[in-house]
Amino acid sequence: MRYVSTRGNAPVLDFEGATLAGLAADGGLYVPEQWPHFTAEEIAEMAGLSYVETAVRVMAPFVGDSLDRDTLTRLCEQAYAGRFAHDAVTPLVQLDHQHWLLELFHGPTLAFKDVALQLLGLLFETFLQHRDEHLTIIGATSGDTGSAAIDAVAGREGIDIFMLHPRGRVSDVQRRQMTTVLSPNVHNIAIDGNFDQAQALVKAMFNDPGFSGRFTLSAVNSINWARLMAQIVYYFYAAVRLGAPECPVAFSVPTGNFGDVFAGYVAAKMGLPVAKLIVATNINDILHRALTSGDYSAGEVTPTAAPSMDIQVSSNFERLLFDLNGRDGAALAEQMQTFETTRAIRLTNAQREGAAKLFTSARIDPDDMALAMRRTWERSGELVDPHTAIGLAAARSVDLDPAIPVVTLATAHPAKFRDAVERSTGTRPILPSRIGDLFEREEKYDVVHATFDDVTAHIAELATPKA
Ligand SMILES: *Cc1c(COP(=O)(O)O)cnc(C)c1O
Repeated sequence: MRYVSTRGNAPVLDFEGATLAGLAADGGLYVPEQWPHFTAEEIAEMAGLSYVETAVRVMAPFVGDSLDRDTLTRLCEQAYAGRFAHDAVTPLVQLDHQHWLLELFHGPTLAFKDVALQLLGLLFETFLQHRDEHLTIIGATSGDTGSAAIDAVAGREGIDIFMLHPRGRVSDVQRRQMTTVLSPNVHNIAIDGNFDQAQALVKAMFNDPGFSGRFTLSAVNSINWARLMAQIVYYFYAAVRLGAPECPVAFSVPTGNFGDVFAGYVAAKMGLPVAKLIVATNINDILHRALTSGDYSAGEVTPTAAPSMDIQVSSNFERLLFDLNGRDGAALAEQMQTFETTRAIRLTNAQREGAAKLFTSARIDPDDMALAMRRTWERSGELVDPHTAIGLAAARSVDLDPAIPVVTLATAHPAKFRDAVERSTGTRPILPSRIGDLFEREEKYDVVHATFDDVTAHIAELATPKA
């Protein structure tokens, strides 16, 4: 399988190259040159498979020759059988006759990002074994990517990780999950700024040859293709259990950077009968505006109780815009350059019409989010976190054939956001025992100004330069 950049002007790479590179050299994102396809018979055969077996089947076409089947199987076993606290890895929980939750939070840091990052850490380690390179991972987090990435690479040979988080804007559990990992290869940086600024700084570091030329940089944000690939798996795993390929299934996805829901789009492209993808946003609603009126324009970020969705620039949307615009890299590069200078673009007709075939969206305000938490607790006995609540409120707000099952992706464990859950339900979720003594452990992080010069100077002092 070959990977091309959405902006059409970077080297074509194999899976190993795309995984290690993260961002493409032209500022674009890597996508497979074509979407693999499963027939209805091949999907039906997945009914008898475990999560690990499903993962190997779904990911093998994307991995191509970069890993043999046995190695891919071993890595999936290590990532999922080894590190998840549930035998189903991503279990389905029924809420009523039409609605299900897909619980993606049984990994070590209590959010869905573990599903992709546990595998990504192992992929990095495997690929680095044949190379004499030291990898410097730089990432930005609104809370959950950081903890999941740090758990996945802490203590691994040949890798350093620098993780930027917006100071004071992540929950206490999220912060402690990052800052109490004291491995010498883990470097936490709290910036005085918001998540979009942190993300823009990371992009600027990759795009600055003076800085990026000195280190072998890689990304763990969902701009890394391997992350999205790992997330396609649970769409198949869930839909097959609810009747696919005969019966179509809809998914409601709490969305920030458009990574998780883009994985659902890829699943549909691969032949999974997806009836609808519901893009659920909070009041930071750039994606809802883009999908309803074609207006992709960034406003100011407003902090909410669902911080992983407090985003105005949604990196992976670029992958969708590329796929819906005839995969014209030059045109997309121009569109994205306009966005980068003016912070606003209009979708083309092809992009709007293409998106409307599969996507719908909803913007959920804080009252409706709180209502969804309370209602789910009272009527189904399930505590859900604020992000999941936004997904559920969105799922119930769109008009769908009642015969189609609707699966809301439960993206975080309620205990990760226990103050917000307690405020809405009156019940305080219990931290699972695998989190251990998080509140007793020592924290370590540096506070750095949100400027390119300050952040790069800080990282350059600690990172391992190219040989
Ligand atoms: C990251 C995250 C999201 C948003 O996912 P994207 O892939 O960025 O769209 C939603 N909920 C939680 C809990 C998250 O950690």
